[in-house]
Amino acid sequence: MTGLRRTRRYTDMDDAWKQKVRRVRSYTPGLQPVPDASLIKLNTNECPYPPSPKVAEALARFDAETLRLYPAPDADALTEALAHYHGVKKEQVFTGVGSDEVLALAFLTFFAGEGKEQRPVFFPDVTYSFYEVWAALYGIPYETKALREDFTIDPADYADAPGGVVIANPNAPTALAAPLSLIEEIVKKNPGTVVIIDEAYVDFGGETALPLLAKYDNLLVTRTFSKSRAMAGMRIGYAIGNEELIAHLKNTKFAFNSYTMSRVAIEAGCASLADEAYFRETVAKIKATRERLAKELSALGFTFPPSSANFLFVTHPRAEAKRLYEDLMKDKIYVRYFDAPRTKDYLRITVGTDKEADALLSFLRAYPALKE
Ligand SMILES: *Cc1c(COP(=O)(O)O)cnc(C)c1O
Repeated sequence: MTGLRRTRRYTDMDDAWKQKVRRVRSYTPGLQPVPDASLIKLNTNECPYPPSPKVAEALARFDAETLRLYPAPDADALTEALAHYHGVKKEQVFTGVGSDEVLALAFLTFFAGEGKEQRPVFFPDVTYSFYEVWAALYGIPYETKALREDFTIDPADYADAPGGVVIANPNAPTALAAPLSLIEEIVKKNPGTVVIIDEAYVDFGGETALPLLAKYDNLLVTRTFSKSRAMAGMRIGYAIGNEELIAHLKNTKFAFNSYTMSRVAIEAGCASLADEAYFRETVAKIKATRERLAKELSALGFTFPPSSANFLFVTHPRAEAKRLYEDLMKDKIYVRYFDAPRTKDYLRITVGTDKEADALLSFLRAYPALKE
């Protein structure tokens, strides 16, 4: 009896701490299987080519002795290189561990302030699913605005957003780019809140909102080295905005972790920026494969919004998307499937190498459901 009672008491204690745990809804990233040469990985929009050889050289040159010292809290060398690259002041640049960290800190800084409960943030119903996760994490109310049937944005939906706006442009997972005039309309109609434009894919064909920084002080543009710079594994992201916005972002960061970017990441990031020719060549190769893949997929009966990104968001009248996703996986071809009302008939396919595109296409040409 005593034994049982003791057991129960411990159980109650277990429950007590469990009740105090903060329950969060997390983001579900695409599968990251153990690297395997036979696997075709088109599920997380990584670059199929290596980063610039200058990055490998910088890593080989890296002096491990320096690791005993903390890195520069503002990642000065990288911040300065980015400022120079984009023709802005150093004080307008904020760097972080991937744009996910930069975006998370931006939500915390600009959307989670005093009285946030009364100020919903607006973003599209079909977009990067992390936005909802950060809003929930910080208790920020939000309203999703339905994209039109063709996945374009109606800018009228975003006028006078009480808490702020976040738009991915080009959008994910649709791959559609909104014109700069539309982005400007949204920024202009929200003088009282911060508008974040997530430009993770802009290098593949979107129009950047950076020129608007000269006219609007409520705009924050975020970028990443993970896609077009082939450095997802290094975790480098950044934001550009007016000096005051950036100062607030830095304040939040210093309330959380002063040294987010490692010395290694800072060096590698600088090396990537120093090789513009390689960067352009890589992006051009991906765009060429994208156009070829788009043409071949159309010929197979797939439809998709025009892509300004390094992926295609495809649907087929005769193939059930979820089933195709599973069948592709059995053949070691990984793509992404989002099981939500507006995306359940689509697959998001990263543009890989020409060889990977050929493997995908030959699978699809033999896929029974696609044949009449
Ligand atoms: C990939 C991606 C990011 C985050 O990239 P990081 O690897 O964290 O820099 C942010 N926004 C969108 C829309 C993305 O697709």
